[in-house]
Amino acid sequence: MAEAVRGGTAGDAGASAPRVGEVVELLEISRAWLVDPVAGREGPGEIVVRDGLLEAVTWLEGAEAEGIAPDGVVVAPGFVDLHVHLREPGNEDAETVASGLAAAAHGGFTTVCAMANTTPAADEPGVFARVRGAAAASGSPVELLLHGAVTVGRGGERLAALGELADAGAVGFSDDGSSVKSPLILRNVLLYAGMLGVPVVEHAEDAVMTTGAEANEGYVASVLGLKGWPVAAEVMAVERAIAVLATVLPDAPGARLHLTHLSTAGALDAVRRAKAAGLPVTCDVTPHHLGLTDEWVAGARRWAWEALGDDGAARDPWADGALVAHPYSTACRVNPPLRGAEDAAAVLAALRDGTADAVATDHAPHTQVDKEAEFGLAANGISGLETALGVLLAAVGARQLTLGRAVEALTTGPSRVLGDRGGHIGARGLTEGAAADLVVFDAGAAWTVTADALASRGANTPLLGRELPGRVLLTIAAGRLAYRDPEA
Ligand SMILES: [Zn+2]
Repeated sequence: MAEAVRGGTAGDAGASAPRVGEVVELLEISRAWLVDPVAGREGPGEIVVRDGLLEAVTWLEGAEAEGIAPDGVVVAPGFVDLHVHLREPGNEDAETVASGLAAAAHGGFTTVCAMANTTPAADEPGVFARVRGAAAASGSPVELLLHGAVTVGRGGERLAALGELADAGAVGFSDDGSSVKSPLILRNVLLYAGMLGVPVVEHAEDAVMTTGAEANEGYVASVLGLKGWPVAAEVMAVERAIAVLATVLPDAPGARLHLTHLSTAGALDAVRRAKAAGLPVTCDVTPHHLGLTDEWVAGARRWAWEALGDDGAARDPWADGALVAHPYSTACRVNPPLRGAEDAAAVLAALRDGTADAVATDHAPHTQVDKEAEFGLAANGISGLETALGVLLAAVGARQLTLGRAVEALTTGPSRVLGDRGGHIGARGLTEGAAADLVVFDAGAAWTVTADALASRGANTPLLGRELPGRVLLTIAAGRLAYRDPEA
């Protein structure tokens, strides 16, 4: 890749490399692998960004294209994350809007949608204003979109100010952290949100079944003596939500249900059937549920596809001698829990066949204090914005996923879920003349996940210490520099 980058504020003649937030005046990337999910095209090419606009996209052929491969420098549209927790207001020790947006940019994301489970919860527009103020003050050009809470204080009793939240730009309504408590409230929010044209984003978990649950129900949890977290808790919640959706559609034809972080074959099958029946259902899956499994809780560190036997069943990490780390690492504690290899394979299959519309990170940073506890008492969550691309590229490298599908699931897929509320870069292609909104990464360059390498305040990831493929070199959001690899 021959690369030149220049930028600065207008009138700042002769400026050299731009700083974060500044317009990219000139960027030329030659001999890269371009991925344009809107055009449905990928291959060798060159791009030129001038004054923040994607001025030229040139596809190379013949001799000019020789030697350019998808395992080198890749240019793709900026990634969109439907599900992040930025912890501000209320838990700035774990993350702030500024550190969260920096983490997004380092991960190649140019748009992120923050969940409403802050303190206070985003159940009225005043909280949106606070969060947006923090985003503006951060100087980051990464676009921050906001989900509003379904119920006041996420308490599950009374509907939040849905109309006001929609007017204030809510991209979804969600009590994420838990399911919408009662099916009656779920029915009401699907009705109202449907009239407002906003999707309901449901965290599918039957809370009665998961009371006290610690790790995915099965062999690993049994051996470790951890209380099982049943697959059925997710399947039941998904089927409940789909059934309620079907009953409100006659009255609210605009109702839309988005199921987030699905982790089980049963739940994904339910979505597959609902889609086949024509119901307006979408879903996302996380990198950790497709790449990691419950045997990580025992101390294994192999990828999910390596933990699957030829017979399609999960291998035994004890019999395989696959345990390389200490058991009970709370970095592996997440909701929904890391599942067995069969479920992880089903998540990957759903991503491949389009049942899963998007990959979302469920970026959930936590302080060390909140993670330094007995396994079952530690906070749930994995800091995921900066490792998402690496996990997906590991799947690509293992031929579990194509690069094109991975990019789609990070760009056009989530963009379609958001619809016309999805911010200013709607299409997510490499479109000449549009504001430059893209990520440049070296798929062949590895980097080591360390607390220092992460921009997030949350270093709570079981990938710590691991080498991941796909070093992000540059992220440009809406024509402005969002991230630049300091060593590139
Ligand atoms: Zn959740």
